[in-house]
Amino acid sequence: MSTLALPGYDDVIARYEPVIGLEVHVELGTRTKMFCGCRTDFGAEPNTQVCPVCLGLPGSLPVANRAAIEATIQIGLALRCDIAEWCRFARKNYFYPDMPKNFQISQYDEPLCVDGYLDVDLDGQTVRVGIERVHLEEDTGKTLHIGGATGRIHGATESLVDYNRAGIPLVEIVTNPIPGTGELAPHVARAYVTELREIVKSLGVSDVRMEQGSMRCDVNTSLNRPGEEWGTRTETKNVNSLRSVERAVQSEMLRQAAVLDAGGTITQETRHFRERASGSGEHGREDAGHTVPGRSKETATDYRYFPEPDLVPIAPDPAWVAELKAALPEPPRERRQRLQA
Ligand SMILES: [Zn+2]
Repeated sequence: MSTLALPGYDDVIARYEPVIGLEVHVELGTRTKMFCGCRTDFGAEPNTQVCPVCLGLPGSLPVANRAAIEATIQIGLALRCDIAEWCRFARKNYFYPDMPKNFQISQYDEPLCVDGYLDVDLDGQTVRVGIERVHLEEDTGKTLHIGGATGRIHGATESLVDYNRAGIPLVEIVTNPIPGTGELAPHVARAYVTELREIVKSLGVSDVRMEQGSMRCDVNTSLNRPGEEWGTRTETKNVNSLRSVERAVQSEMLRQAAVLDAGGTITQETRHFRERASGSGEHGREDAGHTVPGRSKETATDYRYFPEPDLVPIAPDPAWVAELKAALPEPPRERRQRLQA
C-alpha cells in the first residue's frame, strides 16, 4: 500500500469527508505515583523510583492517590463534564514488557468524568468538540532499544526497561467523533490539543510537555464519501508535538484516500507517525510525514476488563466537587477574549 501515489489534499477534500477523534493522555504532576508512594521525578536514574506496588510484586496492594483524583476532577470540570458520584477502577489485561503487573489499572465503563465539551477557535469560527470521557489510569514503564540506528526495536541488539514511569497517574481525555470539519480537520485537531494543553496548564496539574511525553496524543481518522456511513478509523499513536497532530491527520487522510481510490479497504489498526518519509521519497510528500502500521487494533474484549478488586470505589463528595468547581481558574479562552476586549 505504501507505493500508492497520494492524491492532492484539495482533491481528497472534494471527494471525501473526514471524521476525526482525539485521545489525549496527560501525565499528572503529582509528587508521588498513582497507587504507591514512589516519587515521580522526570529524568531520574532508571529503576530508582520503584517499589513492590509499582513493580507488581505478589502481595503488594495499591492505594489510590487523592491528589490525582482531585486533579482529574478539576480537568473534568474545566471541560464541563459531569462528575460521577460513584465509579470504579478496572483492570485492563495485556502483556507488555513495560507493564510489570501484566495489567494496567484504568477505568473502563465507569469513568470519573463524562459528557463535556471544549470550544476551539480557528479562523474566526468556533468548533465545539464533545468530550466523551475523562478517566484516570496509571502509566506504563519505558522501553529503550539499544544498538540500532533509529532507537526502535527493529535493528536493536538489546532492549532495556525503566519502570520509573510505571504507575505515574495518567489522565485520558477522549473526544466524541468530530465530523463535519472538512478541510479544516487537521487544524481542528491541532487547535483542540493546543486549547486542551492550555486548560490543563492553567489548572497547574501537569507540565504538559509533549516533548517529554507528559502529554501524548492518539489521533483517530476516517474518511467517507459524502452521504455514506463513516469509514473505518485508524488510530495514530503517541503523536508528540502539536505540528505532528496536524500532520498525522492530514497524512492519514491522504493515505486512506489513496487506498479507497484504489478500491481497497481501510484496516482498523494502530499506526505510528513518522516525521519524515524514509528512503527515496516514495510517499511523494518529502517533509510532510506519514504513518506506518502498528498492530491491528484490539477490541475491548481482548483486554478482559473487570473491576479492580484491590481498590475501593471512588465516590467524590458533591460538596468537595462543588468546592473544586468554584475554585477553577478563568478558562484560557475566556481570558484571551477578555484581554482582547
Ligand atoms: Zn512504587
